[in-house]
Amino acid sequence: MKDIATPIRTKEILQKHGFSFKKSLGQNFLIDPNILRNITEAAGLTKEFGAVEVGPGIGALTEHLARSAKKVVSFEIDQRLVPILEDTLSPYDNVEIILQDFLKADVESVLREQFSPDDPLMLVANLPYYITTPIIMRVLLERLPIDRIVVMLQKEVADRISAKPGTKEYGSLSIAIQYYTEAETVMIVPKTVFMPQPNVDSAVIRLTKRKEPIARVEDEDFFFTVTRASFAQRRKTILNNLSSQLVEGKNKKDLLVQCLESVGVDPTRRGETLSIEEFAELSNALYPHFKENI
Ligand code: SAM
Repeated sequence: MKDIATPIRTKEILQKHGFSFKKSLGQNFLIDPNILRNITEAAGLTKEFGAVEVGPGIGALTEHLARSAKKVVSFEIDQRLVPILEDTLSPYDNVEIILQDFLKADVESVLREQFSPDDPLMLVANLPYYITTPIIMRVLLERLPIDRIVVMLQKEVADRISAKPGTKEYGSLSIAIQYYTEAETVMIVPKTVFMPQPNVDSAVIRLTKRKEPIARVEDEDFFFTVTRASFAQRRKTILNNLSSQLVEGKNKKDLLVQCLESVGVDPTRRGETLSIEEFAELSNALYPHFKENI
């Protein structure tokens, strides 16, 4: 069967339906079947799995998912794409398009209705770039029953997500995501495989959910508050960042020094040098004294 994702077929489909791209919805469609094959391979998608997609566009990736997975459930916000998808995906009977904003939909109920409880699920998508982080964080924070996430996003965001301590990309986003998942960049993707071409380079990342979070934390919201505060100004020490970000209190700085030292963190270190485990211990030490900061 001819792939949707060739430049010629994509142009034909767009022309036939008089479709014009909406930049505000992050509409950059893939036009290279090799990249699509690489994405489904990187996901390890087989007929045992259900696939969840955000943003099918005209169905370029969706049809690859349909060929490999047991079933595909794909959320699309743009109503204009529905008749196009009915046309392009007509050969596949295992695809369900949900015409809803992924960030507003009751995703958990949709997944419960569409898949059986034993189906292992993965999210595989070429994400709309204006909301890549909120989409990933929604899956993780709401503990949606999705075991693996393999998504295309901006290379710069991929670098931050998979960054290790001590690098300039490492920050609160790396920690938030690596707390729940093992993160790796699996592919760098040139602009030329998209129509229209985006302004930035892209990458595909694979996030594999940990069975248990990487470290034990007393309170997750507080842990994330501490990590964000620690990176508020990258050039500042962790002590100065925490001191300026956490609410005022008596002898605050002394208390912070005490907590930092109690977990073996030199107050003059910068946030970017702390491992996730160190942040967890630090946040547990700070929690009894600063929990009103959540
Ligand atoms: N999967 C297609 C491909 O690879 O060619 C299209 C990917 S395109 C980068 C992003 C898609 O996400 C578009 O179809 C866009 O309309 C859709 N989209 C944007 N915001 C969305 C949202 N909040 N919920 C669901 N879909 C959204």
